[in-house]
Amino acid sequence: MLNREKTDAARLLAADDHRYIWHPFTQMQDYLQEEPLIIESGDGCTLKDIRGNEYLDGVSSLWTNVHGHRKAAIDIAIKAQLERIAHSTLLGLSNVPAINCAKKLVEIAPEGLTKVFYSDSGSTAVEVALKMAFQYQQQSRAGSPKRQQFITFANAYHGDTIGAVSLGGIDLFHATYRPLLFTSLQAPSPYCYRCTLGKTYPGCELACLKHLAAMMETHCGRVAALVIEPLVQGAAGMIVHPPGFLKGVRKLCDEHKIIMIADEVAVGFGRTGRMFACEHEGVRPDIMALAKGITGGYLPLAATLTTEDIYQGFMGHYEEFKTFFHGHTYTGNPLACAAAIANMEIFATEDTVNKSAAKIARLQERLQAMLLLRHVGDVRQRGFMVGIELVADREKKTDFPPTEKVGHRVILAARRRGLIIRPLGNVIVLMPPLSISEIEIDRLCDITCAAIEEVTEAG
Ligand code: PMP
Repeated sequence: MLNREKTDAARLLAADDHRYIWHPFTQMQDYLQEEPLIIESGDGCTLKDIRGNEYLDGVSSLWTNVHGHRKAAIDIAIKAQLERIAHSTLLGLSNVPAINCAKKLVEIAPEGLTKVFYSDSGSTAVEVALKMAFQYQQQSRAGSPKRQQFITFANAYHGDTIGAVSLGGIDLFHATYRPLLFTSLQAPSPYCYRCTLGKTYPGCELACLKHLAAMMETHCGRVAALVIEPLVQGAAGMIVHPPGFLKGVRKLCDEHKIIMIADEVAVGFGRTGRMFACEHEGVRPDIMALAKGITGGYLPLAATLTTEDIYQGFMGHYEEFKTFFHGHTYTGNPLACAAAIANMEIFATEDTVNKSAAKIARLQERLQAMLLLRHVGDVRQRGFMVGIELVADREKKTDFPPTEKVGHRVILAARRRGLIIRPLGNVIVLMPPLSISEIEIDRLCDITCAAIEEVTEAG
């Protein structure tokens, strides 16, 4: 295509984007004022737009991409599956990739998680977990029908469907829907930078855990399950939990016979430096929700893994109706499962998790420079998950007012320098693919630093 034709085509696409698409989590009034960035292709950690500009993918295409874009082994696996069949239902039937993928998931999951229930997004993986735990308590001999409540954490995020929103603890996203939601019991978030209990780690001796213990005592025998984002509360701004917190939660769940649901949607598949975040503290959840990185960032697929015990709670004669009456149309989609198998094979053949240690260390080293900036209040990192919290006043930890749109302006400044990132309010998130090179890590940090400086230190 000639340059002129290319420019005309780009202009047309931009106009049609504005005309037809309602973008998620986006104030469209603002979006319509900006030139849309339209991605056409990608390779490795690089994204290319329709005008030929290249960008580093600094948030793994919304926390999903693992081994880079156009990873040959995943491309080939999907194409090979496409030659056989694109979709067939899992309701009462099975398919080859769904079986092989489930087997692989069980092999790599924390021990004791032996059954795989598929769905297609992080939200649905959590909905499945919720309903599974609730129904188990209602009908299993080992459960108790009085156990109908859920414990969650302040600042939690588990997805956008109504059940998942009921577990949420971020007012900005969840408060509007309160009248539609079931109530859950909210434990304090281990957000050390802004501890709501007014304590400081490690002197606090994990006072937030003691609150949780008291809550469990008070509601003894009425709690079905606890839901937690292990190690990092992602959507709240990469809130990294102090060591020992997760293990303490597991212990309390055991003591009170509460089902522990680990939402590993964001932290799973190598993000934290281990295959699953629970591994860092030797924790085995009773139910584990997976999505995002499961297909290497290629196709929508999710899985809710559980134990033999919970699975057995659904056995019974047909007419007892202990069946788990849940299933989405594209559940166990063969193309997505083929991508997931290839993704897990790459983890094994390329030793992805072990090789990431040096990159994580490099990222940590390069993040130190951020702390020198006047408006950086906190830099949090766990593996490849980074949150840089920007504050108007470092001493008082005061927020920038929303009217200043500081987070948004920083990501636009980064974009002009060739980096795509996305803020969570005034927290700048970095979450590159695990395949990022050390040179790219340097670029990621240099650009982010320059963008923060440009926006927060101007004038
Ligand atoms: N759980 C967690 C911890 C998440 O971070 C997310 C998405 N950011 C979800 C659930 C929801 O996943 P999805 O957007 O795929 O529905």
